[in-house]
Amino acid sequence: MSAPEGRTATHHVLILGAGYAGMSAAIQLAARVKRREDVRVTLVNAQERFTERLRLHMTATGRRLPEMSIPELLAGTGARFVRGRVTAVDAEARTVRVDDERVLRYDTLVYALGGLPDTEAAPGAEDHAYTLAGARDAESLAGRLARLGGGTVAVCGSGLTGVESAAEIAERHPELDVVLLGRQEPGAAMHPKAGAYLRAALERLRVRVRAGAEVVKVLPGAVELAGGESVAADVVLWTGGTRVSPLAAAAGLTVDERGRVVTDEALRSVSHPEVYAVGDAAAIRQGYGVMHGTCQSGMPTGVHAAVSIVRALDGRRPKPFRFGYYHTPVSLGRHDAVVQFTHPDDSPRRVYLTGRLAARYKETVSASPWPTYGRMKKMPASGAFWPRGGRFTRTRGVR
Ligand SMILES: Cc1cc2nc3c(=O)[nH]c(=O)nc-3n(C[C@H](O)[C@H](O)[C@H](O)COP(=O)(O)OP(=O)(O)OC[C@H]3O[C@@H](n4cnc5c(N)ncnc54)[C@H](O)[C@@H]3O)c2cc1C
Repeated sequence: MSAPEGRTATHHVLILGAGYAGMSAAIQLAARVKRREDVRVTLVNAQERFTERLRLHMTATGRRLPEMSIPELLAGTGARFVRGRVTAVDAEARTVRVDDERVLRYDTLVYALGGLPDTEAAPGAEDHAYTLAGARDAESLAGRLARLGGGTVAVCGSGLTGVESAAEIAERHPELDVVLLGRQEPGAAMHPKAGAYLRAALERLRVRVRAGAEVVKVLPGAVELAGGESVAADVVLWTGGTRVSPLAAAAGLTVDERGRVVTDEALRSVSHPEVYAVGDAAAIRQGYGVMHGTCQSGMPTGVHAAVSIVRALDGRRPKPFRFGYYHTPVSLGRHDAVVQFTHPDDSPRRVYLTGRLAARYKETVSASPWPTYGRMKKMPASGAFWPRGGRFTRTRGVR
């Protein structure tokens, strides 16, 4: 193991994770400190290629997505890219270990390691189920589906990732029998009419929906439901819930019951204020409750952390983060979708889009982060617009 890089007058900002949130933080910050000699920005990520998590269900059915190189995007910003897996954070020494061998020091840390499918939720899921944890996992599922030729695919989890995946697989592979298993009815959180549209679309794609089904075990060739029933499946895709990296808890940062870093209103760790936490890895409280992880909220958290870091470097107080949700776009194959417009607390409005218009909307949203980063590189302020949520996000008086 090499020694930590030497301490100098330069302020080191280390960003861990180049997903939607970490990438937003890195570009926003690099663009804002480009001309400063006293700040150094380093972004660490497991892969050089940006993972378009929003489109992993497309990757899982063999769609080829554009190559997006993180080092190429950072070129010209002055930010440094380190490819490697973060294996430990020492919050007291303010160092991060990468691939167990390199040690990077920081003055300010942005923790943006995202989340993973929770394969610990059911025995056997880790060993016998595919996931959409990353591009490689999705590609390996695509290969398996292409070779199957027939049989049953069980998609476990009737949340939005499960719905999008089941629809995508059923459309791309009409020779396969797709069964969607989950506790809740798909689209349950939507306006009743939007939810009904979603379920009708799944029926049209011949996805067999089994709501009220709790998968308790994944076996080779089957899943077991609470109550003992076994559902035969040649392939199992696990989308039930998310878990986060244990690194933050191991570092002694205050985390919530799901391991997410608990932040103050400026997105700093409540136990270690030199650490900002953003995206799915953070537990961020708004007036309506703790935010749940999405790309629409993750990107603003990254931008806000970057702006706050610059304010703090200039001796100014960071501003509170406020965010209100505005939509839930759900693809139903390549030609259909439902876009549920929401109140800032993510509850459904009466307004929603369906059909080809919704599919185009969803595709535009999914394709937008990369060009947004490109724009932010030149005009950082262009990334600083999002709905603040009005009365829904005021935390005054809320514990
Ligand atoms: C199929 C699918 C569809 C979705 N659709 C939508 C949608 O329509 N709208 C929406 O808002 N949200 C959607 N989401 C959710 C959205 O993708 C996540 O909320 C978002 O990716 C969170 O961003 P993030 O930056 O926090 O984390 P991530 O995007 O998960 O990025 C984390 C990054 O950290 C890296 N990393 C993790 N651990 C380490 C480590 N130890 N060392 C080094 N690097 C590491 C990862 O490789 C990754 O690059 C969808 C998710 C899925 C799976």
